[in-house]
Amino acid sequence: MNDQLKMSRQRILYVVLTVLLVCGILACIFFPQLRSLFSGRQQEAQKNLFAMDTYITMTAYGTEPEAALEEAARRLTEAEKLWSVTDPGSDIYALNHSHGQGVTVSEDTKDILSFVLEMAEETGGALEPTIYPVLTAWGFTTEENRVPNASEITSLLAYVGYDRVRLEGNTVTLEPGMMLDLGAVGKGYAGDLAAEILRERDITSALLDIGGNIQTIGSRPDGNPWRLGLRDPFSDGILGVLEISNMAVVTSGSYERYFVAEDGTRYGHIIDPETGYPVDNGLAAVTIVVDEGRVGDALSTALFVMGLEGAAEYWRQHQDFDMILITDEGAIYITEGIADAFSLNEEHGDMALHVLQ
Ligand code: ADP
Ligand code: MG
Repeated sequence: MNDQLKMSRQRILYVVLTVLLVCGILACIFFPQLRSLFSGRQQEAQKNLFAMDTYITMTAYGTEPEAALEEAARRLTEAEKLWSVTDPGSDIYALNHSHGQGVTVSEDTKDILSFVLEMAEETGGALEPTIYPVLTAWGFTTEENRVPNASEITSLLAYVGYDRVRLEGNTVTLEPGMMLDLGAVGKGYAGDLAAEILRERDITSALLDIGGNIQTIGSRPDGNPWRLGLRDPFSDGILGVLEISNMAVVTSGSYERYFVAEDGTRYGHIIDPETGYPVDNGLAAVTIVVDEGRVGDALSTALFVMGLEGAAEYWRQHQDFDMILITDEGAIYITEGIADAFSLNEEHGDMALHVLQ
């Protein structure tokens, strides 16, 4: 009797173990992330660096994430060397000191320039890569901020006009006095170059934080979407959480870099190319959600210049990206494509949330 009880207990144990084993095998077959976790192939690595005037953190998951991140970091550093306005060895520096002479630039510089000129055209000049002389007058390039007088601004606006940049093959020609600045798109563009390297090296899951520009590859290693905090433009906190996969999330706002003049007026670092004055149109921040970082970066700056109405109109005409606009009054406008992916933090429950359709 006792022996029989032992036998049937053993049998139950065998059955339970067999069922568990089969379930485990099935789970590994249907959830690749789990499989690679067990086989030890999916490893996490992180790389921090300072480039393009900002802190960069890249986290990647894959078979050899360290090597992939090293190469991506090299690509970012390379891009910085080409596009820096202050490095005398950069393509942009050479152009800004070319006194009207044509300059032969690298393939990467030619590519980003043709992209930025195209986006300038597409946004009706709200994105203006030749705004640099005006930006300098406001002191944003030296951190010695000042308020230029109206006639100084007017005379500097004569050197602004993306449509006068000549790009023929790899030769770029600027009129004397004109200057280029890729500050509005460089980080997003470089992020795309880094992401391209990671994808080529079989990284299927990664998060790149390039000074607040977020670019993601795939989903989190557990298969769930990335959860990104949306910065509150009025404090250091987070407004809410955006759940996304395989997308770039890029924000422009006046709260990032600004100065307060003697009379108390706040001046931000994004210039309205029509007036030559820092944008002050009622928008506090613009976040773009789109597959390519370069497009997100270009649009976040341009739509910030356009203001609420202009940005909403631009979105209705294009519809190939999503966005979140936050006004100075604290109202939030979100496009329908990401409305369900965004959740406002409880303490901000009083903020008005409007869905754009
Ligand atoms: P951040 O660099 O803080 O992420 P942006 O991507 O919006 O912000 O880029 C802002 C930078 O772009 C400014 O610091 C300046 O170098 C440049 N810039 C300012 N106004 C314009 C504009 N209207 N068009 C293109 N570039 C601009
Ligand atoms: Mg930008």
